[in-house]
Amino acid sequence: MKPAHRIGFGWDSHEFVTGVPLKIGGVTLAHSKGLGGHSDGDVLLHAITDALLGAIGAPDIGTLFPPSDPQWKGADSAVFLEEALKRVKLAGYSIGNVDSSLILLAPKIGPQAGNIRGHVAKLLGISSDCVGLKAKTPEGIGTDNAAIANVVVLLEQASASKKAAPAKKKSGS
Ligand code: MG
Repeated sequence: MKPAHRIGFGWDSHEFVTGVPLKIGGVTLAHSKGLGGHSDGDVLLHAITDALLGAIGAPDIGTLFPPSDPQWKGADSAVFLEEALKRVKLAGYSIGNVDSSLILLAPKIGPQAGNIRGHVAKLLGISSDCVGLKAKTPEGIGTDNAAIANVVVLLEQASASKKAAPAKKKSGS
């Protein structure tokens, strides 16, 4: 029998580099550096994608979208998230809520947290009060030139969830 709930965990890190825009949660933030990587380096969307894939026991983001494949060079990470969402739906689940913690020295996330939560909620088709986002500075862990994202997600069996059908229509604030 299919479990009524499933949880997923995702983790990712990317190094700050010059010459690329900083994208976190699909939002472009003003900063002197961006996050390097084969795609757009969106550390938060990557961790959310892995959390969703992990929750349903699907292959991880690196397996589905290998960095060695030139078609993902500079890719909008929303594409990876869409594939994970499609697989979650196919598996018969919808998203209950998502919580995340970012660890980065700069820029300050607080002033943009509402924007990021709203954008992530829209991408996920859930309301923004179902998206948690905290930001911490990397005290004593020596990762000042990286951004790290930790994400947990709760999935609910779609048939057991009242909001399964209209979830796509909801958008964040
Ligand atoms: Mg990544």
